[in-house]
Amino acid sequence: MMKILVYIHAPAGTPSKGQRELLALAARLGDASAVLGGPADDAALAGLGAAGATAFYAAAGGLDADGLIAPAVSLLEAAVRASGASAVLLPNSVEGREIAARTAVRLDAGVITDAIDVDAELTVTKPVLAGSWTVKAQATRGPALITLKANSIEVPEATPAGGTTAPVHELEIGDTAPAARITATAPHTATGRPELSEARFVVAGGRGVDGDFGPVEDLADALGAAVGASRAATDAGWIDHSAQVGQTGTTVSPQLYISAGISGAIQQKAGMQTAKTIIAINKDPDAPVFEIADLGIVGDLATVLPQAAAEIRQRKG
Ligand SMILES: Cc1cc2nc3c(=O)[nH]c(=O)nc-3n(C[C@H](O)[C@H](O)[C@H](O)COP(=O)(O)OP(=O)(O)OC[C@H]3O[C@@H](n4cnc5c(N)ncnc54)[C@H](O)[C@@H]3O)c2cc1C
Repeated sequence: MMKILVYIHAPAGTPSKGQRELLALAARLGDASAVLGGPADDAALAGLGAAGATAFYAAAGGLDADGLIAPAVSLLEAAVRASGASAVLLPNSVEGREIAARTAVRLDAGVITDAIDVDAELTVTKPVLAGSWTVKAQATRGPALITLKANSIEVPEATPAGGTTAPVHELEIGDTAPAARITATAPHTATGRPELSEARFVVAGGRGVDGDFGPVEDLADALGAAVGASRAATDAGWIDHSAQVGQTGTTVSPQLYISAGISGAIQQKAGMQTAKTIIAINKDPDAPVFEIADLGIVGDLATVLPQAAAEIRQRKG
């Protein structure tokens, strides 16, 4: 049976949906082991075990990551060498892609990003060219380092209870003292909304909101959705840059993407085109976003969004 490693960047009490997707895919392909990119207590190990991990790899003496990724690269390299893994699955986040790339250089291995599926031959399916084509790709040497887009693999909404007491292999990873240190950090204000890249539902606003994200945020809250934005909206300072969806922002693949007052430029489509269902609201019937929308509403978002939010709240009771 193939050994598959899953890199868990920040183990927490309950594994995130993205982490459960990575482990579910790994377990489908072979024997799934989790590489712990941070401290993990018993609850975290039980959660990862319940999600499919049959073994763990951790840095002996802990990982002095300090928010930087070089130590994580050393750990992943050591885990691949110790396990003889055929493939490593990582999140398709900025950190995941950077760790994959640096580890691949050390192992002389292949990297494939933006994966949406992997088959038993380790052939990866991924969208390219702003989602207008789907290609199949295989690493030609070394263990394949594959970064998986969130919401690509079906998993239950919650982690099953229980979890195995899988063995933890501690690896000596040598001098991990980073050559750079983070000297100050400031937490983002918590919104209570789901994380954009992993959200099942996203409501996004563009220049059409004309400075007022209130109706977008209200519909997002009615749905339990994350809030996204076009670059025009983030550049205008109407919402934080972390909300930007697209080529130079976050790539999302939610079950439902509601686009409001966004024209649908190619750079915006690049980040949301793989959403399972797209609903577009735009007052211009010729807006390019309607070319990829499953449902299009020609209208003023200031009228449509509050009606939708009210209807959802009424149906929820
Ligand atoms: C290198 C590069 C990278 C880029 N990366 C990104 C990226 O990551 N993400 C991104 O989004 N863009 C990106 N862009 C910018 C992109 O090209 C577009 O300029 C941008 O997406 C436009 O944002 P928008 O659709 O909100 O604005 P506009 O194109 O101005 O569209 C606004 C839309 O709102 C509609 N509208 C107006 N009022 C209302 C109303 N009351 N009700 C309903 N509809 C209304 C209009 O009909 C129009 O279709 C990038 C550009 C470059 C060159």
